[in-house]
Amino acid sequence: MINIPKGTKDVLPEDAYKWHYLESVVRRTAADFGIREIRTPTFEHTELFLRGVGDTTDIVNKEMYTFLDKGNRSVTLKPEGTAGVARAYIENGLQENPQPLKMYYITPVFRYERPQAGRLREHHQFGIELYGSASPYADAEVMLVAKTLFDRLGLTEPVLNINSIGCPECRKNYNAALKAYLGDNIASMCPSCRERFDKNPLRILDCKEPGCRAITAGAPKTLDYLCDDCREHFETLQSILSEVGVPFAVNPNIVRGLDYYTGTVFEFISSAIGAQGTVCGGGRYNNLVSEVGGKPTPAVGFGMGLERLLMILENLNLYLGEPEVPLIYFAPASKEDAVFAFKQTNILRTQGISADTDLTGRSLKAQMKYADKRGYKYVAVIGSEERGSGNVKIKRMADGAVTECGFGKIAEVLR
Ligand code: ATP
Ligand code: MG
Repeated sequence: MINIPKGTKDVLPEDAYKWHYLESVVRRTAADFGIREIRTPTFEHTELFLRGVGDTTDIVNKEMYTFLDKGNRSVTLKPEGTAGVARAYIENGLQENPQPLKMYYITPVFRYERPQAGRLREHHQFGIELYGSASPYADAEVMLVAKTLFDRLGLTEPVLNINSIGCPECRKNYNAALKAYLGDNIASMCPSCRERFDKNPLRILDCKEPGCRAITAGAPKTLDYLCDDCREHFETLQSILSEVGVPFAVNPNIVRGLDYYTGTVFEFISSAIGAQGTVCGGGRYNNLVSEVGGKPTPAVGFGMGLERLLMILENLNLYLGEPEVPLIYFAPASKEDAVFAFKQTNILRTQGISADTDLTGRSLKAQMKYADKRGYKYVAVIGSEERGSGNVKIKRMADGAVTECGFGKIAEVLR
């Protein structure tokens, strides 16, 4: 037998409705904010992620599914959703559209990680990309999308943590302070951190090695090194969030794992799913579009892990939609009734009523068992009597109540 690859998951027919529910709330929420969907390919040229995500990140260094295609081109399965959107924005001239441009995606994401609860090799993200505004209102808007989605799902719990890691100006001073703080200790840190020391010292704070974490615990905070503009931006953002009633905590330890972030960074963290509690991470990345070859364009967005979101909803026993079962099952009483039942079932479908019938030729008794297991709301037996009279008895399974009507009236009765 061939097994499923490590770190991937099947969504079975009996559970698919949960995803449909989640995605429908996601799409409705995005629409209410005037955000339109963008779909980009599942794989891109590897170069895009090297430049867009950054070669000092765990994603690029350790986690990408990269391979040569048959034409000898290096391609990579999306390790995140943002770089592909930036590429599409530039390539399709979307900067000519009225700005800001608000886009969202729902996409599979591939990362070669050690699988554990809430950490898969293929997971799915809902993401927002807001291009063309440098205002803190744009930051607040994307945070509000996530908050509104959580509210609609009945989730009060994920806490918004915000921080600012400053612009390249602030970063220069901060990097100097961080390097001075680390000093000789850098020699005892992991190889990735030693490499980051020169290339991108801020990334050292995002290292997950316990030894490195112990060293960085008392490191200087980016918030203490913000320039006037970045400080004002961060303060305005906080007052907007307070004004619209989005609770938040300033958390100077949030730095985010991607190279492209500038200024605002944030995470929504849940305590309902254990160690991998970050359900949504995002921030501002004003340099991304220029980094991958476009005109400088301010941008802000987030990525939200849908498997983690689903885990939270399940752990808290929140509503996840209803299993998808047709409304009515037609049970032919004998072989002679099968064609009639088959035809009747299809007539109802054309009238917009979901309906099912027997496809196996099993006995009436076996059909009843099947109908009970599947959970149809109504069942109607079709025998020679029904075919003769043109009337059918519709049984409501919950309480056994029976309604009799002509075949032509079934849709009306069920509505
Ligand atoms: P982490 O620190 O948990 O590795 P990250 O910083 O790598 O997260 P992002 O790149 O910001 O995560 O991705 C956005 C969201 O996608 C995360 O907040 C999380 O909910 C989800 N996510 C990331 N990696 C995985 C994974 N391997 N499996 C499942 N969900 C994931
Ligand atoms: Mg990660």
